[in-house]
Amino acid sequence: MDHRCRRGRFCANREEVDGVIVGRAIPAEYGFCDTCARHVEQAVQALPQDYVQLNAILGGGSTVGGEPVRMTKDLPVPIRLHIEALQRSMVEEADAWAGSLARVLNVDWHPHGGTRPGWRLTRACRLIGNSLSAFLALRDEKHIIWEYGHRYVAPRDGLDGALNFLSLSYKARLFLGQTKLVHHLPVPCPRCDAMDLVREDGSELIECRDCNRTYSWTEYERLCLILVDREEKGLNVA
Ligand SMILES: [Zn+2]
Ligand SMILES: [Zn+2]
Repeated sequence: MDHRCRRGRFCANREEVDGVIVGRAIPAEYGFCDTCARHVEQAVQALPQDYVQLNAILGGGSTVGGEPVRMTKDLPVPIRLHIEALQRSMVEEADAWAGSLARVLNVDWHPHGGTRPGWRLTRACRLIGNSLSAFLALRDEKHIIWEYGHRYVAPRDGLDGALNFLSLSYKARLFLGQTKLVHHLPVPCPRCDAMDLVREDGSELIECRDCNRTYSWTEYERLCLILVDREEKGLNVA
């Protein structure tokens, strides 16, 4: 049995094996493929900014952060509650993992009570983002979980945490309206080889989410032709 990227069918380099979509096969010592590990890193680094932007759409009267807000547009109550719950989850999750990480790395970490959540989140995400491989390597950490009004202690791995960060980041993007319909191209990026080319609905541009390069259709076609050409020449020489 192959060891595969923990992101499973959502893996950026997912493949089909016997009709089932699975994560890319990777060495046993890794939890994610390179691309997905980079996505985790990007999600963790962007979380504090997501939090601030969510504050902005909450407008006045946020009960979560008590932080300065810019917009005053009234949101329907259910959406407001969902956003506040999402913000709380961001802070709790980052706090929990930063605490575990600090213990393993033996760095000073005292999240004092009474500090602003946004500040705690920024601090926690910085620690996690700066020590991503140590975070992903965490095993069997005991965290206090709140679920449906119940509190219990659950053993969790850094990889569970990473999947949670991806999901928190995705949810933030949904609320912030940044999740657009994208088409995934079933071909690798001509420059970095990652299977991560997307085109937003209605857009002329193709973007590689791995190396962040963008291509126009013509440019993309030209690069593909060059690659094919080169491969054919390589074959002819051999
Ligand atoms: Zn992956
Ligand atoms: Zn690329």
